[in-house]
Amino acid sequence: MSALPLVKYGQPILRKVLENVDDFDSIQNLVPDMFDTMYEEEGIGLSANQIGVDLNLMVIDISHTDEPHPPAAFVNGRIVERSGTSSMEEGCLSVPGVQVNVTRAESLRFAYQDLDGNSQEKDFDGLMARVIQHEMDHLTGRLIIDHASMVDKHRIRKQLKELSAG
Ligand SMILES: [Zn+2]
Repeated sequence: MSALPLVKYGQPILRKVLENVDDFDSIQNLVPDMFDTMYEEEGIGLSANQIGVDLNLMVIDISHTDEPHPPAAFVNGRIVERSGTSSMEEGCLSVPGVQVNVTRAESLRFAYQDLDGNSQEKDFDGLMARVIQHEMDHLTGRLIIDHASMVDKHRIRKQLKELSAG
């Protein structure tokens, strides 16, 4: 297991709709690396394209927050139902230094496969629902900056320019 370099804003893979996972054997070694990378960067969620891998795969660990939930890996995730709305400032490991107010569903029903390929469907709310939506954005090529208001877009314009310059 080892932490991998993080893909930052400006790299095309962050703007791609990622491929579904068919070969579950191929992700068994990848998932521990994703957790390690997330911990190294002190994040609470990570999608596969953030380490340069084109697969619909995310890891989340909010177990140290006041909304404890065991660490989880979700494969081929799909949000099947959303309800309520909540707004919160979000950051993203791939867009360092940028905070954007993002309005998301308060709760959701999430269909996914576990690491053995078994289909699951569960309800999530609060922080877990928020992180799932953040990572689902990644898996469909979206970033927090796409949720930014006009005022926020103006505010972060310079930071983004510097980030994409590398
Ligand atoms: Zn992110």
